[in-house]
Amino acid sequence: MKCNVKDLSLGEFAAHLEEYEQPSYRARQIWQWLFQKRATSFTEMTNLSALLRRQLDEAFEISRLRLVRRSEARDGTVKFLFGLSDGESIESVLIPEAKRLTLCVSTQAGCGFGCAFCATALLGLKRNLRASEIIDQVLEASKTLSGGRRITHVVLMGMGEPLANYTETLKALDVMTDTSWGLGLSPRRVTLSSVGLIPQIKKLMEETRVNLAISLHAATDEVRGRLMPVNRKYSLPELIDCCRSLPLPRRKRITFEYVLLAGVNDAVEDAQNLSQLLRGIRCKVNVIPFNPHPGSAFQRPSDLEIERFQQVLQTHGLQINVRRPRGEDIQAACGQLQGEESQQRLGQAPLTAAAD
Ligand code: SAH
Repeated sequence: MKCNVKDLSLGEFAAHLEEYEQPSYRARQIWQWLFQKRATSFTEMTNLSALLRRQLDEAFEISRLRLVRRSEARDGTVKFLFGLSDGESIESVLIPEAKRLTLCVSTQAGCGFGCAFCATALLGLKRNLRASEIIDQVLEASKTLSGGRRITHVVLMGMGEPLANYTETLKALDVMTDTSWGLGLSPRRVTLSSVGLIPQIKKLMEETRVNLAISLHAATDEVRGRLMPVNRKYSLPELIDCCRSLPLPRRKRITFEYVLLAGVNDAVEDAQNLSQLLRGIRCKVNVIPFNPHPGSAFQRPSDLEIERFQQVLQTHGLQINVRRPRGEDIQAACGQLQGEESQQRLGQAPLTAAAD
């Protein structure tokens, strides 16, 4: 089996190139072909000698994801279903807004964290994605854009837990944010969301400058424990302590995500507890009213209750944003991603079918 070149870091690839007695700038030049000029074959790399191109072609492959289905929602949100080489599938979601175009990417096929309200959890963990499979979601989604439109933001909020797939995720973040050979996205435009794996959160903050979002979802250890099994390993007080001690650059804030579940965590008291809990942490709160999916018993609170929850937080001076659901009619909203299985379950007709 040939080595997939996009699974290597630049350093690893440069080490491979030593075999071919190339100047030291060569690895970077090839990386520019891959990630800036988006080459899909070594043949296209016309400033390399014919011999080197042949040698590279013999030793490496350049991966692509197979676009199985592209569905477009009424609000313009686009969901991509990608097939992986071993038959697994993942989804990515493109979210157009007035001034941004955000791609939400997956980092695992399925997820092993079992959050009670999340559709991806029903799949269990299939496997970690490789760096190439994470970055290829951005490359393939970009290819479908017309009229000079570009992806301006990336959020690692699709299927899976990015920090449980740390090494591959970090390689992909490097490609996204490098300006000399990579996609050149400012780290301020990249956000990684985690269920709260404390050791990896600390490492991430030391090793990258991307934004951090934490799925909190409850203001007490008891409620969080019921919703998120990971809370048994990293409890709410420990997680909050960790957030307080993170080295946040000036003007940077942690985002806390809070899925609002009717009758579970949406009471005025919950909002008060949450305000108390987050006191003194430079943060903003993203309230995500529950997005229903087949097989879930939870319910979205009424607009009035959402408003009431929001007001309590605001009264306590928290910066809060209620996330409007995007792409609900194609099951593309937060917590609705299930890959091929959701498509089968819903018998959903694709609006646009794409063959590769
Ligand atoms: N595993 C990471 C990355 C996924 S981000 C994490 O949990 O943070 C997806 C976000 O959507 C998470 O905050 C998740 O808790 C939330 N979510 C999951 N199911 C949801 C649902 N049905 N409705 C609204 N939000 C949901």
